[in-house]
Amino acid sequence: MKIKIMTIFPQMFAGFLNTSIIKRAIDNKLIEIEIVDFRQYSKDKNKRVDDYPYGGGAGMILSCQPVLDCLSEIKSDNSFVIITDPAGKRFDQSLAKQYSQKDELVIICGHYEGFDGRIYDFVDEKVSIGDYVLTGGELASMVISDAVSRLVDGVISSNSTCEESFENDLLEYKQYTRPQIYNGMAVPEVLVSGHHENIRLYRLKEQLKNTYLYRKDLLKKHQFTEEEKRLMKEIIEEHD
Ligand code: SAM
Repeated sequence: MKIKIMTIFPQMFAGFLNTSIIKRAIDNKLIEIEIVDFRQYSKDKNKRVDDYPYGGGAGMILSCQPVLDCLSEIKSDNSFVIITDPAGKRFDQSLAKQYSQKDELVIICGHYEGFDGRIYDFVDEKVSIGDYVLTGGELASMVISDAVSRLVDGVISSNSTCEESFENDLLEYKQYTRPQIYNGMAVPEVLVSGHHENIRLYRLKEQLKNTYLYRKDLLKKHQFTEEEKRLMKEIIEEHD
């Protein structure tokens, strides 16, 4: 899969592209991430990309010309174009999965007070990473690219993603590693019992419990099995 990120701050991406799983995925040619500086497309003699807002008000607005000239040059028929915007559709795991199926994503990073309103006519989706306002879309584009990249085949083992948080509308269970006892705190006995069925049940109950305690909203969407309904009854009795 290919991801093209349009920004006026390409230097922000050095750490992201050169570290850990993303770097390995790029080196192994599983994903390709291209950073495109749309300031280079500005026809202004000083390479300006922004201007004052019509109607007055604070801050500067990114102009149509550099953004749209850059977009029309780098997008292809296979591109799905996302614009980062706090007023956009909320990015979540299900959107990450949808994007991971695309051949090519183009992500446009805003800055200052945002974009000229006409730019939105040229994008497929307006996406927000949460209800807060960042100084620019660069961090948002890295969040989106990271979450999408790890879902691309081969980037990480599919066993790692199938029981993760938000799979099946549940949060993950707590995990433990060596030593078995640290400063007097022991790993739950069941996890060292070697009893696979008890471990499965323990983990499922932990997933349901975490989701009940921290994200009840997810449980509204979850399709409960009979076994889960029974475990849920126990959890409610234990915590209410
Ligand atoms: N004036 C805009 C508003 O009130 O909605 C905020 C502009 S913000 C300071 C500048 C840029 O940062 C936005 O154009 C967008 O690209 C990016 N940005 C800020 N918060 C974001 C969020 N929560 N999700 C995605 N992008 C965000």
